[in-house]
Amino acid sequence: MSGPPASPSRARVRLPDPAGISAAAEILRGGGVVAMPTETVYGLAGDAFHEPALARIFDTKERPTFDPLIVHVAAGAAPLRLADLDAARLVDATGLPSPLRAAADALIARFWPGPLTLVLPKRDEVPDLATSGLPSVAVRMPAHPVAQALLDAFGGPLAAPSANRFGRISPTSAEAVLEELGDRIPLILDGGRCAVGVESTVLSVGQLAGQQGALVLLRPGAISAAAIEAATGLAVAPPPESGNRGGPQVAPGLLASHYAPRVPLALLPGPVAQLAPASARALAREAGATPGAVVGLLLLAGPVEPAATAFAAATGCEVHARALSAAGDLAEVAHSLFAELRALDRALAHQDEAVLFCEPCPPSPGLGHAIADRLSRAAAPRPRG
Ligand code: AMP
Ligand code: MG
Repeated sequence: MSGPPASPSRARVRLPDPAGISAAAEILRGGGVVAMPTETVYGLAGDAFHEPALARIFDTKERPTFDPLIVHVAAGAAPLRLADLDAARLVDATGLPSPLRAAADALIARFWPGPLTLVLPKRDEVPDLATSGLPSVAVRMPAHPVAQALLDAFGGPLAAPSANRFGRISPTSAEAVLEELGDRIPLILDGGRCAVGVESTVLSVGQLAGQQGALVLLRPGAISAAAIEAATGLAVAPPPESGNRGGPQVAPGLLASHYAPRVPLALLPGPVAQLAPASARALAREAGATPGAVVGLLLLAGPVEPAATAFAAATGCEVHARALSAAGDLAEVAHSLFAELRALDRALAHQDEAVLFCEPCPPSPGLGHAIADRLSRAAAPRPRG
């Protein structure tokens, strides 16, 4: 890797009007990269069939090349089928067992456009850089109208990982992209806050070693395993054990440490309201927060004041608390998770010994599972170097 490319000036944040979309498409046609909104998080888009554009995505994000990209496709006029992905030079489904071909078609019909990524056998034309040399390619049809407008204007598939530096919190607003990559890319299309707020569900359709006949959930997201099972009539297997082992990842989302704020994050064992003062004190000390330290407290549900007051009284720390949803609604929690993590991280980053505490999310199917997954990765010990 040649290191992140410096842009001569700061990224232009543009409205996604026809002029903005056509400026973005022009940059993409020249082999450049731009940030675009999707319904999950903002993506850093580049031509999926152009190796220099793919290399630029990896350089810009400082993403290791063993971490494959998701290729985004246009919705088009007619409902899309698996065979259309073959015609688009992306997927070669000939070797897929027919129940899995039927499952892929059922999932496409049911969930696209939307936050579901399918990992399918790739056609030879897909550059190895997009798939990290894997024989499979990850494909998704985003539901965001701006992403769709850009795909239409560009006229081909776009590889687009989240528009953040590798391992950091995914951006859910144009401002967050500016903070992450503003000095490295020419253009950000501003489509407002992302509706879902966490990355897509990633599902292997017969592409995981040793599981060629199976659907395997590689990354939990808004679309649950149960919804996939209902749509296909097939069982969904859980992801394999993984971690920060280096080497090819079956799914980048499987890296144990990911989505990390700069300030260390500690997951609480339960809701703050149920924490005994002595346990809160012990947890704070264990995380390195001594009396007088400034700490962040991220609550799943409000009200904020009683929890903040109790946590401050128990630990002796100065507490900056925020709630992800007034009533603990999981769609709201997912929608605001990365934005609030980012805001607290920014507020505390200049403090010595700052720690961010977060309530755990019950891993209920779908969004609960996705939120719990992102929180545990944000709190995981980080590899150095
Ligand atoms: P990001 O683009 O940063 O949201 O992450 C990319 C996601 O794409 C990862 O979590 C992977 O699960 C997935 N991915 C991309 N290509 C493949 C592939 N060929 N096999 C398995 N997972 C993939
Ligand atoms: Mg990412």
